[in-house]
Amino acid sequence: MSKLVPPHGGGSLKPLLVPAEKRAEALQRAGGLKKVPAASREISDLFMLGMGAYTPLNGFMGHDDWRCSVTEMKLASGVFWPIPITLSLQQGIADSLVIGEDIALADAETGEVLGQLTVQEKYSIDWELECRHVFRTTDPQHPGVQKVMQQGEVNIGGPVIALSEGEYPAKYSDLYLRPEQTRAEFERRGWTHVSAFQTRNPMHRSHEHLAKIAAEVTDGVFIHQVLGNLKAGDIPAEVRTRAIQAMIDNYFKPNIAIQAGYPIEMRYAGPREALLHALIRQNFGCSHLVVGRDHAGVGSYYGPLDSQHIFDDLWEGALLCKPLKIDVTFYCYKCAGMATGKTCPHDPKHHLSVSGTRQREMLSKGEEVPAEFSRPEVVAVLREYYRRIEAG
Ligand SMILES: [Zn+2]
Repeated sequence: MSKLVPPHGGGSLKPLLVPAEKRAEALQRAGGLKKVPAASREISDLFMLGMGAYTPLNGFMGHDDWRCSVTEMKLASGVFWPIPITLSLQQGIADSLVIGEDIALADAETGEVLGQLTVQEKYSIDWELECRHVFRTTDPQHPGVQKVMQQGEVNIGGPVIALSEGEYPAKYSDLYLRPEQTRAEFERRGWTHVSAFQTRNPMHRSHEHLAKIAAEVTDGVFIHQVLGNLKAGDIPAEVRTRAIQAMIDNYFKPNIAIQAGYPIEMRYAGPREALLHALIRQNFGCSHLVVGRDHAGVGSYYGPLDSQHIFDDLWEGALLCKPLKIDVTFYCYKCAGMATGKTCPHDPKHHLSVSGTRQREMLSKGEEVPAEFSRPEVVAVLREYYRRIEAG
């Protein structure tokens, strides 16, 4: 009997990916079905369903699950679920589908068939209702709201099978771990309580400090990076991976940190997304998720601690993965060490703060980066990257 936190929903993990030995045949069958295009975020959700990260969902949500997850943060069955997972199509395509029909889900950009869905429901949504609840705004400038507004007019609900994991396994090999694998790895190491640390950045000293606090209070830290599409200007995943590995290899004891990546695409829904991130980590076998300042936020749509506070409003048993709430971290010259907003009493003028823009400037222009801000091994990886892109 595993001592790790059980998968979400009370049952076992539910990976919807067809086993490798049956995939060729299933793909051939899907090749004969009507092919519909799925957008990049929907493909990312298909991969999440495929690996079992969205356990216990069995596909894209129907109307009742959509509505309940939007307004009450639960599925129609009562199981906690904070963000709807939906597939949308243009009216014309949706009209051509018959309830009960099997359709092939293809990447809208490449045309490659990646999954199959049985059409159970067609419904239209009130996008304002969804955005007001999930994003706390209907501002079309918000990147998550924008995506909802660009969706097709009709949502299609129904059970799904994934027929591929796209390029992820080949591109990321050992980094691409599925929940079954991380659970097996945690058990092999004898870990029972594991903290997840979500990142879409290379890790500087402040991130290292957060990850170390997490490792101190549990058996180990699972550094889990976003591999799905990011915002323009973000550092590509393969560079981030090397920068993070340089930090782990040089500044963590062996066997205390594991790095992995997963195919989610950010929605930038702040508090609601922090909850989804915790739910997903529960499926990966993590008992805790580090929730720092403005987790999964964007711009100034959310208060800095909203993503921490929302965990306090959940009902008993909603979510077994708990937040490790940690305030903003930085180097403080008065403390002469890493510190947090919670404990350091000194005026911010004593804190080392480097904006994203300034970071990039220092790295690409070969300026010295303070050792209090980032480890030299990490800086070396990033500098090489900026040199390369700026050389064109
Ligand atoms: Zn201080």
